[in-house]
Amino acid sequence: RPRVLSGIQPTADSFHLGNYLGAIRQWVALQDDHDAFYFIPDLHAITVEHDPKTLAARTRNAAAQLLALGLDPDRCTVFVQSHVPEHARLAWVLGCLTGFGEASRMTQFKDKSSKQGADRATIGLFTYPILQAADILLYQADRVPVGEDQRQHLELTRDLAQRFNSRFGKAFVVPEPYIPAGAAKIQDLQEPTAKMSKSASSPSGIVELLDDPKVSAKKIRSAVTDTEREIRYDVEAKPGISNLLTIYSALTDRKISELEAEYAGKGYGDLKKDLAEVVGDFVSPLRERVALYLEDPAELDRVLARGATRAGEVASSTLAAVHERIGFLPPM
Ligand code: ATP
Ligand code: MG
Repeated sequence: RPRVLSGIQPTADSFHLGNYLGAIRQWVALQDDHDAFYFIPDLHAITVEHDPKTLAARTRNAAAQLLALGLDPDRCTVFVQSHVPEHARLAWVLGCLTGFGEASRMTQFKDKSSKQGADRATIGLFTYPILQAADILLYQADRVPVGEDQRQHLELTRDLAQRFNSRFGKAFVVPEPYIPAGAAKIQDLQEPTAKMSKSASSPSGIVELLDDPKVSAKKIRSAVTDTEREIRYDVEAKPGISNLLTIYSALTDRKISELEAEYAGKGYGDLKKDLAEVVGDFVSPLRERVALYLEDPAELDRVLARGATRAGEVASSTLAAVHERIGFLPPM
């Protein structure tokens, strides 16, 4: 079975529709025919300013959402990044193979640091893609399901794996980017030319999975559209309407062309009202399942501990091979 690895940051109380429709829904499907590792990158979450009091709660929240969305700890490995110390240790080695100029070309750093102001951006944010490379390479992942927003980082990961293997001898599988069928990219409701993001979008631009459906309905009603009246998929001319159609289509498994036909002659208000209902039908049972998981944090922690044990076995064997190849004296 091919191995896959992917992660989602605990950077908000709730995941959003983009996280589900662009990533987690595919993770659930991949459990069936892959050896799947899914993790919560808390080391990555502290690359931007964070509140220590909420990070632990958000990490448990993230685990509860992953299980409620369908990850099954008997069929995949779910763990927290900081529970497996090999991530930070491999990142150091990979950082020593990465050129400063090479790292400087990463667009996510440019985007996130320009939003924060260059003086407040941290070295951790700068080296984020190197830690991400370590996350992937530790597990010898064949495939990494990531959204379009992560493609450049995966390219760096492949370069680093190849560089290490050719300089020091093979220690890593060179992973393939993998955009699974049906993965949708969801845009910010208020700024439909930018992706919906946990940390960058304004609250009114994000449909949070744990939002009260009434709140989501209101956000969908106020989504930015255009001044035409026609409901038609056209990302260039109508990014807002196209985004609503994408969400609608992904949640109902109906073709966009079918939706266009159904809404011919109807108004944007009709589309938004129906979409709000579709979203409500999806999140209502989900919110209940998440609440059930959160009622028993000790059980959640046990699931994560089991995941960390299994992940640690793979990670420590990779790191030992890496240390041996680069000439570190083995500890007694
Ligand atoms: P942050 O703003 O903290 O980076 P995020 O919303 O970008 O949060 P991540 O934790 O970085 O979420 O990413 C988790 C997964 O969700 C990744 O596979 C990423 O590609 C995917 N993803 C994130 N945003 C979207 C989106 N708007 N549409 C589709 N997929 C997305
Ligand atoms: Mg992100």
